[in-house]
Amino acid sequence: MKKFKIDIDEQVVLTIQRLDFEVQAREFIVKSLMQSDIANYEIFKQYHSEYVDYFSQFEIAKSMITNKYIPNALKEHETSWNIDYASKTLEITQNCNCEVII
Ligand SMILES: [Zn+2]
Repeated sequence: MKKFKIDIDEQVVLTIQRLDFEVQAREFIVKSLMQSDIANYEIFKQYHSEYVDYFSQFEIAKSMITNKYIPNALKEHETSWNIDYASKTLEITQNCNCEVII
């Protein structure tokens, strides 16, 4: 398993970090509402629809990052990645054992 680190634009990091936060916040609220005894369906519907909206924006942003920042040499291999928000670095893990030079 090999790891690669790539710097990414600050604006991209800020956008994806914000979407990540919005998704997590909605997910927390929706889960809490589902567990609550006094379930208000209208409020639930509102947060659920916001959750779906942010979740799809987050997924689109993630696939843009995959397209833009994963080096071509790695695109055909099994990889996973993660962004370190603090250092604005994309950490790519190559999950297969192929020899790849980027
Ligand atoms: Zn491979």
